[in-house]
Amino acid sequence: VSILGIDIGGTKTTIAIADPDGRMLGKQVLGTARDAGPQVIIESISEQVHALYRSLGVPENIEGIGISCGGPLDPDRGRIAFVPNIPGWEDLALADIISDKLCAPAWLDNDATLAAFGEVVFGAGRGVMNLVYFQVSTGIGGGIIIGGKPYRGCGNAGEVGHHKILPDGPSCTCGSSGCLEALSSGTSIAREARSALANNTESLLYRWTGGESGGVTAEMVARAAAEGDGYAASVWERAMFYLGIGVSNIVSILNPELVILGGGVTRSWRQVYEPVRRIVDERTMSELARCVRILPPALGEDAPVTGAIALVMEKLGKI
Ligand SMILES: [Zn+2]
Repeated sequence: VSILGIDIGGTKTTIAIADPDGRMLGKQVLGTARDAGPQVIIESISEQVHALYRSLGVPENIEGIGISCGGPLDPDRGRIAFVPNIPGWEDLALADIISDKLCAPAWLDNDATLAAFGEVVFGAGRGVMNLVYFQVSTGIGGGIIIGGKPYRGCGNAGEVGHHKILPDGPSCTCGSSGCLEALSSGTSIAREARSALANNTESLLYRWTGGESGGVTAEMVARAAAEGDGYAASVWERAMFYLGIGVSNIVSILNPELVILGGGVTRSWRQVYEPVRRIVDERTMSELARCVRILPPALGEDAPVTGAIALVMEKLGKI
């Protein structure tokens, strides 16, 4: 028998097949045809699953299917409320549909929660009981592990990107304002850097984009800051200051042994780790700050699909 993991994202979908102990046997990354609608996307996923089994020469005897998807969702009922980056995915019994298609029990959970679970079972958090995972990319997602298991609350716990840092701050995708996501996500870093680009013509960002502010990305801000660009550094440092405050808040509440900072914004690791570590040390009670390690993810972009495999193992009582 085998375990199947599926991570459905706004731009790509990853499928992975693992042995009954969760060791990955093979995986495949597919583009997500975002506008095609759920039926077409699910049909194409199941075809690719059959193809992956054939190419690995593994019999298609599936013990369980774990599905990772952006929230909000209802993990107990396997239903998606809606998916922020995929149009038409609303109020969908995703676990049942995939279970019927592939003839195996299926479970659904939030991608960031599963990324945290993947890291704790197979990645940087092995052996850790309490961990918080921050996914800092276009938005900011999060997952919480308590006692070695995902903490789900009523189903959508761990929205660390939407805890409030600056009550009167910039408006957020969630409808509120001053959330961590509105201050430290890749989108927010780029937005801040664009806002005053016209007044900073000496900046590398201005040179690289020819003054076209729309071309500025968070990755460019990090690179320019690393090259000593004052304007880029001020934007970057402000975003990292707020990220450090956000990590300090969560550490104060949960006292975890480990915080993992993943996602595209954390790729320039030193530029993220140093300010965040400093702020956590300065602004958190010392007993809590001393206890917490801050690490990059070990599984990278495979964390959610690996967590989907761990979800099946959890449901089958193997972990
Ligand atoms: Zn928000």
